Amino acid sequence: MIRIPVPHPEPDKYTQPYWDGLKAGRLLLPRCCNCGHVQMPMGPCCAECLAEDFAWEAMSGRGTVWAYVVYHHAFHPAFADRLPYNVALVELVEGPRLLSNVVGIAADVVRTGMQLQAVFEPEGDATLLRFRPAGASEEKP
Ligand code: ZN
Repeated sequence: MIRIPVPHPEPDKYTQPYWDGLKAGRLLLPRCCNCGHVQMPMGPCCAECLAEDFAWEAMSGRGTVWAYVVYHHAFHPAFADRLPYNVALVELVEGPRLLSNVVGIAADVVRTGMQLQAVFEPEGDATLLRFRPAGASEEKP
């Protein structure tokens, strides 16, 4: 059986510090030097005030499930052996919301409002940001 690789992120000048941070086990996001807004997704200017100066800052890694879906069908063949899996919109305590997976539990146990902690999972050449329930062991079931 031919194994199809999972699509990998393609860092650019706006996202390279984010990916480097994940590889080092840190969740770094850009904070606007003018208004303090934490920018996610990253871009050339602040979504709140249009300033162009950012400082990359370590986030706590704590967040909450804002919304989720559990996939029972692989819409990309690389994910066929992962079914079922969840995709969650996670709201960080610092404010930004980002898409990720909640791991360390059965995929369909995820619920809105669940308190989470970031985990950094190597996958191929990249390290991906995922979350586990806060207070849970880092061991996978
Ligand atoms: Zn700003």
